[in-house]
Amino acid sequence: MSANETMTSHPHRIVIVGGGAGGLELATMLGNKLGKRGRAEITLIDIATTHLWKPLLHEVAAGTLNSSEDELNYLSHARNHHFRFRLGTVHGLNRARRELRMAPILDEDGSETVLERVLTYDTLVFAVGSTTNDFGTPGVREHCFFLDRRPQADEFHRHLLNRYFRVASRREASVEDHINIGIAGAGATGVELAAELRRALSIMGTHALERPPADDEIKFTLIEAADRVLPALPPKISANVAEVLRS
Ligand SMILES: Cc1cc2nc3c(=O)[nH]c(=O)nc-3n(C[C@H](O)[C@H](O)[C@H](O)COP(=O)(O)OP(=O)(O)OC[C@H]3O[C@@H](n4cnc5c(N)ncnc54)[C@H](O)[C@@H]3O)c2cc1C
Repeated sequence: MSANETMTSHPHRIVIVGGGAGGLELATMLGNKLGKRGRAEITLIDIATTHLWKPLLHEVAAGTLNSSEDELNYLSHARNHHFRFRLGTVHGLNRARRELRMAPILDEDGSETVLERVLTYDTLVFAVGSTTNDFGTPGVREHCFFLDRRPQADEFHRHLLNRYFRVASRREASVEDHINIGIAGAGATGVELAAELRRALSIMGTHALERPPADDEIKFTLIEAADRVLPALPPKISANVAEVLRS
C-alpha cells in the first residue's frame, strides 16, 4: 500500500488524459492490474467517445474503411478493463492542487450539456498525442485538410464525395470541376493516402453512376521537399513506389 493510500481514504487516483495508442493501452493495463483489485482508481479522459487507431485515418478519408467497425467504444472497454472513462477536453491544469479542468461539453446548437468540471488526481499521465508538422510550408495550415483526428478524416471524405458526384452528374465537366488532389508530404502517410484514394475512386467508378469521371478528370499531386517519395527509406523502395503510383 502506498503512502498516499495510508493517509487518505481513497485508493490512489491515476488520471490518464488521451485515449490514443499510448493512453488507451496504459489505462487497459493499469485497469487490469490495479483497478480490478481496487488498488488504484484509473480514469481515462478523451475528447471522443470512441477510439480509432490513427494509422487508419487515411482509409477513413478515402472511404475504404468502415470506421464504425474498427473503432473501440471507451465506455464499454473501460467497464471490461476496470477503469473509468470521462468524456471531455482537458483545458486546464493546476499542478499545485493536483487538479484538472475539463471544458464544458456543448451540443449541436452550442448550449452546454455538461458544465465545466474539475477532476483531482494523485498521478497524472498526459498522452494527448501530436499534430501534423507542416514544416512551416506557406498555405498548408490555412488551406489543407489535416488527418490528425477522425472528424477531419470524415470531413475530407465528405468533400471528396461531393466533388466526385459533381463531376459524375455533368455530361461534360469543366476544368474547374475536375478533382485535383494535392497531398503535402510524400512520407508514409502521404503515399498511403494517394494509393488509397486512387483505389477508392476506381472502385467508385465501377458503381452505377450516370457518368463515372474519366481518368483525366482526376489528378493526384504529391508534393515533397526531398527529391523522391518516401525519403526516409532506401532510394530503391522510393523508385519502386513512385513507379506504382504513376501506373
Ligand atoms: C494519418 C496517420 C498515419 C499514421 N501511420 C502510422 C503507422 O503506419 N505506423 C505507426 O507506427 N504510426 C503511425 N502514425 C503515428 C501514430 O498514430 C502515433 O505515433 C500514435 O497514435 C501516438 O500515440 P499517442 O497515444 O501518443 O497519441 P494519439 O494516438 O494521437 O492519441 C491522443 C489522444 O488524446 C486525445 N486528446 C487530445 N487532446 C486532448 C485533450 N485536451 N483532452 C482530452 N483528450 C485529448 C485525442 O482525442 C486522442 O485520442 C500515424 C499517424 C497519423 C496521423
